[in-house]
Amino acid sequence: MLNRSMMDLLRREEASRRMAAENLKVCPLCGGLNAATNAECFVCCWRGEFSYDPYEIEDGVVELMAQCPELVDAFVPPMPQRRGLKQRVRDFLSRRRARKQLDLWA
Ligand SMILES: [Zn+2]
Repeated sequence: MLNRSMMDLLRREEASRRMAAENLKVCPLCGGLNAATNAECFVCCWRGEFSYDPYEIEDGVVELMAQCPELVDAFVPPMPQRRGLKQRVRDFLSRRRARKQLDLWA
């Protein structure tokens, strides 16, 4: 059975895959990942048909992320805020209390 965080992860992966497929394309010649708006491949200047296959694009994205891990943040949307207001207030208060205690000892 899938737990909640697994479901979230899958949903986020699905969302980022769909986003990537909408904005990217793959050069059939060199496999380079291009913006969908590019007229020609920025790697090899190919000007023919590009591949819009979501799985090919995903492979390209994964490869790109392996090279520049900081891109992961740009592609994966942030986790939705799931904590309730009560929990957030409790966290805030306990953080404040912790800081006060620190101040006493400082
Ligand atoms: Zn190319």
